[in-house]
Amino acid sequence: MTSVASDPTVSPWVGGLLDSFGRKAEDLRISLTDKCSLRCTYCMPAEGLQWLAKDRVLSDEEIVRLASIFVALGVNSIRLTGGEPLVRPGVAELVARLSALDPRPELSLTTNALSLADKAAALVSAGLDRVNVSLDTLDRARFAELTRRDRLDDVIAGLHAAAAAGLNPVKINAVLMREINLAEAPELLEWALRAGFEMRFIEHMPLDAQHAWTRADMVTAEEVLTVLEPRFTLRPIGHIANAPAEEFEVLDGPGRAEWAADQHRVGIIASVTRPFCRDCDRLRLTADGQLRTCLFAHRETDLRGALRAGASDDELARMIATAVSAKAAGHAISAPGFRQPDRPMSAIGG
Ligand code: SF4
Repeated sequence: MTSVASDPTVSPWVGGLLDSFGRKAEDLRISLTDKCSLRCTYCMPAEGLQWLAKDRVLSDEEIVRLASIFVALGVNSIRLTGGEPLVRPGVAELVARLSALDPRPELSLTTNALSLADKAAALVSAGLDRVNVSLDTLDRARFAELTRRDRLDDVIAGLHAAAAAGLNPVKINAVLMREINLAEAPELLEWALRAGFEMRFIEHMPLDAQHAWTRADMVTAEEVLTVLEPRFTLRPIGHIANAPAEEFEVLDGPGRAEWAADQHRVGIIASVTRPFCRDCDRLRLTADGQLRTCLFAHRETDLRGALRAGASDDELARMIATAVSAKAAGHAISAPGFRQPDRPMSAIGG
């Protein structure tokens, strides 16, 4: 397949968004804001960050227009992220407009759930299909220490509201830190299984605003399994489609008789020690309209600038296809000379 980059006569609209490794980009993460309602210690400083100026942030109109171009280019799944996406006003209306795209992409959201209890029903009516909630501990004091906010109850209420509104599965993403919450992993898993949520443990990635990440401090997937296996019987399933999580079926463990749901799973996202870049189908659009073909990219494509300068859909599509065709093989975190991107995770989105 001749790529757009090498042959300008090739229409960007034909054949999907292929990179030079044959990977097809079908999953778009859209960051709605770089702001957040929490201050997680492994993500940003207590005082927060220099937020994007309002006029640099994409409007709903611009997001829907760009999303419609990505969908026409073969994207079939859109995840709304942040910062914390629900601090942006009007997310349900935006979801409704995205769910009206044809073909309709699957719509999901990654949130800290602080305001989910109030918004879950409206988001589902608008067309939201799935939700991932970030929650690293069930201990109130530890939550307040980790996030610098005493809001654990709101997160729990948000999770139950999401399930009650019909979102399924409701997934929980937890980042584990050796001296803080690693020992709590079995309890988190048991709690999720009883409540009918799907637990996932994530290796902390070098994307913190403070650039304090070290590999030595990072809890590996192996460590997580070492903590879980004495308490739970796990059967490996592997990666489902191109999803980042390595899935395990939980066959047995504490509270087995009270486990809700008919499917008992736990996922581990081992971006650093077991990278899954070979099957990556993800792209990211930042809140200020920059296309990142990888979380760890050092180059971005300024779609906002082109859009506001009057670019046509065809020109924008060509920019997207050209960027994707130049996508790097992977994050190279383990390679000598790895350099953390300047833009932090909070301004890229999960
Ligand atoms: S690190 Fe980059 S290439 Fe690898 S899975 Fe993540 S986004 Fe894809």
